[in-house]
Amino acid sequence: MTLTGLSIAEARAGLDARDFSAVELVQAHVDAAAALNPRLNAFITLTPELALAQAAGADAALGDGSAGPLAGIPLGIKDLFCTKGVRTTAGSRILDDFVPPYESTVTANLLRDGAVFLGKTNLDEFAMGSSNMTSAFGPVENPWKRAGDPGAVLVPGGSSGGSAAAVAARIAMGATGTDTGGSIRQPAALCGLAGIKPTYGRCSRWGVVAFASSLDHPGAFARTVQDSAMLLQSMAGFDPRDSTSVDRPVPDYAAACRRGVRGLRIGVPREYRADGMPEEVDRLWRQGLDWLRAAGATIVDVSLPHTRYGLATYYIVAPAEASSNLARYDGVRFGHREPGHDLTELYEHTRAAGFGEEVKRRILIGTYVLSAGYYDAYYLRAQKVRTLILHDFDQVFAEVDALLTPTTPNAAFAQGEKMDDPVAMYLNDVFTVPANMAGVPAMSVPAGLDGQGLPLGLQVIGRSWDEETVFAVAQVIEDAAGFSVLPALRAGVVR
Ligand code: GLN
Repeated sequence: MTLTGLSIAEARAGLDARDFSAVELVQAHVDAAAALNPRLNAFITLTPELALAQAAGADAALGDGSAGPLAGIPLGIKDLFCTKGVRTTAGSRILDDFVPPYESTVTANLLRDGAVFLGKTNLDEFAMGSSNMTSAFGPVENPWKRAGDPGAVLVPGGSSGGSAAAVAARIAMGATGTDTGGSIRQPAALCGLAGIKPTYGRCSRWGVVAFASSLDHPGAFARTVQDSAMLLQSMAGFDPRDSTSVDRPVPDYAAACRRGVRGLRIGVPREYRADGMPEEVDRLWRQGLDWLRAAGATIVDVSLPHTRYGLATYYIVAPAEASSNLARYDGVRFGHREPGHDLTELYEHTRAAGFGEEVKRRILIGTYVLSAGYYDAYYLRAQKVRTLILHDFDQVFAEVDALLTPTTPNAAFAQGEKMDDPVAMYLNDVFTVPANMAGVPAMSVPAGLDGQGLPLGLQVIGRSWDEETVFAVAQVIEDAAGFSVLPALRAGVVR
C-alpha cells in the first residue's frame, strides 16, 4: 500500500485498524517532502523532527484510546499561520527571521485533534497574488503538466500555492490556507483539489498574519470533499480572541457530505460568464449542472447584478485594509530591520528592503484610496458597493440553496505569464472575490480536465453559516466527476 496515496479518511481508518503506525505514515510523507520539495518549493520551512515527534505522540494516543479525529494525519500549514517556536514568514523578507511565541487558534485546534505538521508552506508575499510568484522565497511549481508541453513550469495558483502543490503532490494529506479573494479556491482549482473557504467568522483569524481583515478567511485544502470537511471540522469554532469570530455550534460536516441534493434549488448566476472564457470551462459548468439535476436538484437561473463591480471593489477595500495592517512592520519590535540615521530613515530603509514589489503596490493603492481627498470617492464608495453585492446574495439565497459557477476562468498558466500586467493577474479572482465581499461560504471541487489535461474546478457558493449544503453539493459533483487523474509530479514519481 502506498501510504502517501491515501485520503485522510482512509488513513485514519488504517491507523485505527493498526494497518500502519502514525510514525510510518508521517515518515512516508517526510520522505516525499525530501524527494520533491527541492523541485516544487512548496514548503518554506520543513520540520521533519517535530513531525515525527508529533507522530510518536499520535501513536501513543491511538494506543491508549485518547486519539483525536486527526491523530497522525500529516498536514502542511500555510506560512501565514503563526506556529509557536517555528519560523513564520508570510512569504516576506520583512518577517524572514520571525519566530512566533504563540500558536494561532486554527493550528492549535488542529494540534488538539492530533494532527501532525510537516512544515510551513510557501505563499505569495503577505498572501497578495494568484500565482505564488510574489513570494520572497521563490515560486512554487505546480505538480501538474500540460500534456503537449511537459517542459513548461506551471504555477499552482495563489496565494496558498505551496499548500495546494504539497497536497496535490502527495507530500501532505491536507493543508491550511487563507482566502481573502480566492486564495484557497483558485489554487485548489489549478491543482485538482477540494478547497473550502467557510463563512466569515467560522474560523478564527487570531494568530493569522493579517492581509485584509474584513476579507481574510482561514480554510482548508484536501484531495476529497470529505477530507476537507474533516479538516474544517477541527479548524472551526468560536474564539473570544477574534472579535469577528461568531459563537455558533459547528455542525457535523462529514455527515453533511452524504446528504445529497435531492430537492435542493441550485442557482446559475448569469453574470459569471466572463468575456473570452474558454468554451471548455463553460461546457464543464453545464456538465456540473447536469450532474446536479440528475441527482435530484432543480436548476434555476439567477442574477447577481453587482458581481461586475466585485473585482474593482475588492481592489480598493483589500489594499486599503492591507496598507493599514502592514503599517506595523517598522523594524522596531520584531522582523527585519535596516539601520538608518534617525527613526524615519529606519522605517524607510526597513520597509523599502523588507517588502516586495506587489506588496508595495498594494500599500500605495491602499494609502491613496484612504487619503483625505480620495476617501469618499474610492473607499467609501467601494464600501457601499460591497453592501450591494451582499444584498445580491441575500436576494438569491431567498430563492435558491446554493450557487454553481466555474472557480476560475482558466486552468493553470505558466510561470512568468501575466506577470507584467497586474490587472490580467487580478482577473484570476473574478469568480471568487464576490464570496469574500459577502462573507458567504464557498468551495472549489475538481470537476474535469481541460484540453491540455489540466484540472478545472467548479465553485459551490452557499448561504452564510450553511457550509453543510456546500459540502453536500460538492460531494455530488465529486462523485459524478470521478476525478481520478493524478498529477505528473507526486510522491514516488519525481522527474
Ligand atoms: N489574488 C487575490 C489578491 O492578490 C486574492 C489573494 C488572497 O485571497 N489572499 O489579492
